[in-house]
Parts: sequence; structure tokens; C-alpha cells
Amino acid sequence: MESNWVWASVGALGLAGVTQQAWQRLKLSLAKHPSLTGHSRMAKRVVRWIPGYQYSEERFFQVDGVNADVAQQRRAALVRLGELFRQRHEQSLDWTSRARLNISDLQFIGKYRVPFQFSPVLRQYLSLASVVHSSEGVMVTDLDGNRFYDLTGSYGVNLLGYDFYKSCMAAGFERAQSLGPVLGSYHPCVLDVTERLRSISGQEEVSFHMSGTEAVMQAVRLARYHTGRSHLVRFSGAYHGWWEDVQPGPGNPMPPRETYTLREMHDSTLRVLRSRSDIACVLVNPIQALHPNANGPADSSLVDSSRKAHFDRAAYTRWLQQLRQVCTERGIVLIFDEVFLGFRLGRGGAQAYFGVRADMVTYGKTLGGGLPVGVVCGAQRYMRRYRDDHPADLCFARGTFNAHPYVMASMQVFLERLDEPQVNDLLQHQDERWNRRRDLLNERLRQAELPMQVANMLSVFTVNYTRPSRYNWMLQFYMREQGLALSWIGTGRLIFSLNYTDEDFAAVVDRMVNAGLQMQRDRWWGVAVEETDRDIRRSMLREMVFPQTR
Ligand code: PMP
Repeated sequence: MESNWVWASVGALGLAGVTQQAWQRLKLSLAKHPSLTGHSRMAKRVVRWIPGYQYSEERFFQVDGVNADVAQQRRAALVRLGELFRQRHEQSLDWTSRARLNISDLQFIGKYRVPFQFSPVLRQYLSLASVVHSSEGVMVTDLDGNRFYDLTGSYGVNLLGYDFYKSCMAAGFERAQSLGPVLGSYHPCVLDVTERLRSISGQEEVSFHMSGTEAVMQAVRLARYHTGRSHLVRFSGAYHGWWEDVQPGPGNPMPPRETYTLREMHDSTLRVLRSRSDIACVLVNPIQALHPNANGPADSSLVDSSRKAHFDRAAYTRWLQQLRQVCTERGIVLIFDEVFLGFRLGRGGAQAYFGVRADMVTYGKTLGGGLPVGVVCGAQRYMRRYRDDHPADLCFARGTFNAHPYVMASMQVFLERLDEPQVNDLLQHQDERWNRRRDLLNERLRQAELPMQVANMLSVFTVNYTRPSRYNWMLQFYMREQGLALSWIGTGRLIFSLNYTDEDFAAVVDRMVNAGLQMQRDRWWGVAVEETDRDIRRSMLREMVFPQTR
């Protein structure tokens, strides 16, 4: 009788355990974004399943079902653009085609500027150069002397204008040259640099690394060390560098391990954070406020017009406040990854802009004053790499070139200049300035009746397309024709440096409108097509499953 009772209790406990586990799993599933960005494992399976195929010449011009006349006009337009680029960028293109043989990254970006189905035919008509030899003001110049308004922002590094960084680097080199490349012992400027970083970040300690990726690796490693927990939480679509654990989905050959990819700005995520005991840290990349839960908007995935972006400062502030609260309650380390946005949001970065303090902050890009860098600033209790009570239990992180004298000196110049009045002015009232410019651009696009509008988070812009189309990715080539330099992800991310004056911006507006009008005249847009975005996606799915429909 007694033993029955014991077994019944054990059974009940076991059942409770299983139910508890199932409940935890269910909560985790509910906190995943329903799109593929929320399901790393499934996304990896899907990308392996997507077959490699390409449109024939005929289909390339008519995939939206237009008639032969329109297709002919589109073909003529592509021939014209190809010839124009060949003539205008002769030396730059020659350099690029030779360098492409040697540089793996060039082969990669050359192939992935547009949706893969279009890429091979497009490349028969058009080649783009990937070389520039000088910069000045807001312009860059290629080997043939063509000048472009720079909208690449050098991956975000270029916050204050290229000339600003040239002078930071020159002054930094001068300060460091008597020491040269001596490593291990620090250059004297490092003390001042760390004091400035502590003041700007509001954090207690600092560590130096060589890239943003490394800074993030170190922050996560320390969070795991101090909490004794295994998992990091990142949000769907957020980029944090190319290290394994922060890139659990496509792009990484290994399966996801100690990473939970959860839904940003959603209560279900807060429930997971509140109830699990294996979460060491949460990583936030504030640029995601512009497109929560979506990947960085690259034109290689611009197959229709469903890409949407919109920044709501108040809503994102509320979200960060909620995150802060749950992380504090649960002893989870809250890490702001400010490598990309850094000082673009203002001197105090995302912490000051949203009024939420993180436990650790990673910086990089612009902070090096033009040289490569990664920095972690954090609370002392998380930055320490050893334990007094267990001296052999370390959290090891070093790096030969961390705190290189030239980088540190350039960074010092950058930080000093951040406090100068004219730089300070550029960092003030940014919402007002950039939203006004955005409205101006959108108004002009509306007046021209073009199917595009832009959204922005301060000086970072992205193009939204307002009518269903399969050819939106063509806009990047028309923008280049107009002398606008874009990064390889195309119209998804236009990064303005803060030295853009209203006149410079007005010139970009004119050129974007001209690009759109030319694209419309060339009939990639503005022809009667009955497809919705949903139809387009369905038809692409059909092509993947049934080769005969391609
Ligand atoms: N974090 C964020 C938010 C980034 O945007 C990037 C780079 N785009 C990184 C980390 C990685 O920095 P790096 O390229 O210097 O390794």
C-alpha cells in the first residue's frame, strides 16, 4: 500500500516535471517570430532546399507577364545602362574584373546584389566596379574620375564625414609614431581614452578588441562566465557580427547551439526571459528598431514589395524599458550592441537616446576614428576576467593587436573631437533634422508618383516600395547611374554622414527622383501588372517546386 503511494508520488512528480518541461518548450516556441528569421534551424533547412536556377533571357524581362513590347524596352534599357557603365567606368571595371579573380568576397557580393534568379542574365549586361580612389566632403571618386554622393557610409563607420576621419587618423599617427607598433605595454593616450569611454558609456570598465565581432564575442563570453548560464538571446533578424553563436541561421554551416532567437518587441519573449534559468544575456542591436524582427534589408531578397520599415521611438523605448526590468529581475546581462549605430544616435549612443542603461555596451566602427576597432564597456562585476576565490577559473580573452598605439591615438582624437561644439551641433536635434529631410524626399517621390517612399532612423534610410513589383532591385542601378554610391546591399540601407548639408541632401533627392523616373520610363515600373505581393511569392514558390514553371 505504502509503496503504491510512493510510486504514485514519483509518477506525479515525473509527470509534473515533463509537463513543466513541455510548458517551457511551448513558451519558447511562442516567443519565436513566425517568419523564418525566428526559426534558425528551419531557415537553414529551407535554404539548403532552395534549388539553384536562373531565369532565361526571355523570362528575365517578362517574369511579371508584360507583353513583348515592354520586354523589348526593358532589354534596350539594360543594354544602354551596360554600355554607359562600360564607358564611364572603364578603368574601374577593368580593375574590378581582375581583382575579382583573387578576392573571394568580390565574387560573393557580385553574385548577390539582386535576387539569384535574375543575377546571371543581369551580369551579362551589367558590371559594377568595386573600387574608389579618393573621398572628399560627401563624395567618393572612382579610378575614372567619376564622383558619387556616398550613401554607403562605409558600413556605418562614416558618421562625421571622410575628411573628419582622415584628420583623426593623421593626428593619431603623429601622436603614436614615436612608439610605433609596440604592443603589450600601452601607449600613454590609453588612460585618457578609457576615461572618456567610461564617461560616454556610463560604464565602469573597458576592453579593447580589433573588430565589432570580437567585442560581441567577449561581451557574451563574460556574461556566460559571470552568470554560469549557457544561452544568449538574440532577436530575429539582428546582426551582431559573423561569429557562430550570434549567427545561428543561414550563413553559418554549423547548427544553432546555445542561442535562442526570439521575437523582438513581444510579450512572449519577456515571458521566456522571466521563466528560464539558462539565459546568460540578451543582445540588442538598436538599428532593428527600424525593422523589428526582419533581416537587414538587402536587395538580394527584394523579390516583391513586401519589405517594410518604420521607426517608432516611443514604442522601442517602452520595449527596452521592459527588457531592462526583466533582465534586472532575473540577473540576465543586458548587452547593447552599438557597433553599428554607436554615436550616430548622439554622444551617449542608444543608452542615452532611449534612456535605458545596459550592463555592457559594445562599440566599434566609427569609434576607431577611421581605424579598425571593437570595444566593450561594462559594469565592473561583469568585466572581471578572474575570481579571487577560484584563481584558476578564468575567462580568457586577449589579442595581439588589441590596443594598437595608432588605433588608440586615432580613437583619442575622435573622442576629443566629439566634444567640440561643431560636432556637438551635428549630434543635437538629429530626429528633427533627418525626419524633415525624409519628409522632403518622400514628398518629392509622391509628387513624381513613384512607387517608393523612404523610412529612416535618424541618418539611416531605407527604401520601401509601395506597389507590387518584381523589379524593385533595378533601382540600385539607376541610382548608380545618377551618381549615388550604394553599398552591396543596395537600396535597403542608405547611410548618410552627418556632414550632409541641406544642399547635398537636396542633390540626392533630385537624383533619387530622376533614378525612379528613368526606371519608370524604361518600363520596369508603371506597366499594368495584376500581381499582388502574395501572388509573386506564390509564383516563386511554384518555380522552386516545379522546375517546368521557371
Ligand atoms: N554588431 C553590429 C551591430 C554590427 O553592425 C556589426 C557590423 N556590421 C558587427 C557587430 C560586427 O562588426 P565588425 O564587422 O567590425 O566585426
